[in-house]
Amino acid sequence: MVTNQQRLDEIKTSIVDDRVCPQLATTATQLVFGEGNPSAEIVFIGEAPGKNEDLAGKPFVGASGKLLTEMLESIRLSREDVYITNIVKYRPPNNRDPLPDEKLSFLPYLQAQLDIIEPDLVVTLGRHSLNCFLPELSISKAHGQPKRYKGRVYLPLFHPAAALYNGSMRQTLMDDFARIPAIIKTIKLEKKTI
Ligand code: URA
Repeated sequence: MVTNQQRLDEIKTSIVDDRVCPQLATTATQLVFGEGNPSAEIVFIGEAPGKNEDLAGKPFVGASGKLLTEMLESIRLSREDVYITNIVKYRPPNNRDPLPDEKLSFLPYLQAQLDIIEPDLVVTLGRHSLNCFLPELSISKAHGQPKRYKGRVYLPLFHPAAALYNGSMRQTLMDDFARIPAIIKTIKLEKKTI
């Protein structure tokens, strides 16, 4: 039997084989595919790897990753319980914003990751991630409110990097984050009654 991890590994290989964003692949140190539980209930999706992630080959290991890990611990979860990834899997040069065509090029692979993991909840971190799935929503209005769309439930959150140096945004992010267990509980109850 093929495991979810093996299926995810195949998607990772296909990103290289399909030569997705060859320009970014040249400037980046390596592909940062994602890590965590291949059958996670919650998947977190950021924007693109930064310098630390590019060097480590893992998502969210720098300062914003530290905040994400702390927030997970505050709701009694570890990084190993969830799955963490980004839309764009190579670091954009000098941490510039990912370009629209870069996001579009990686989207089918991100969708494939979600199809394998089948999480109850997809948490988008920041506006790039939110707008990949729900382009009409604004992060400032939609944050903290779960949104059902095409068979999945999305929870838009502010990006931890934006919250690092902004006290009120950090508090809002922590408050929104604290709602995750109750949101998961509701989703599970709804699944049972369908
Ligand atoms: N910011 C992101 O969006 N993703 C990372 O992996 C790190 C920082």
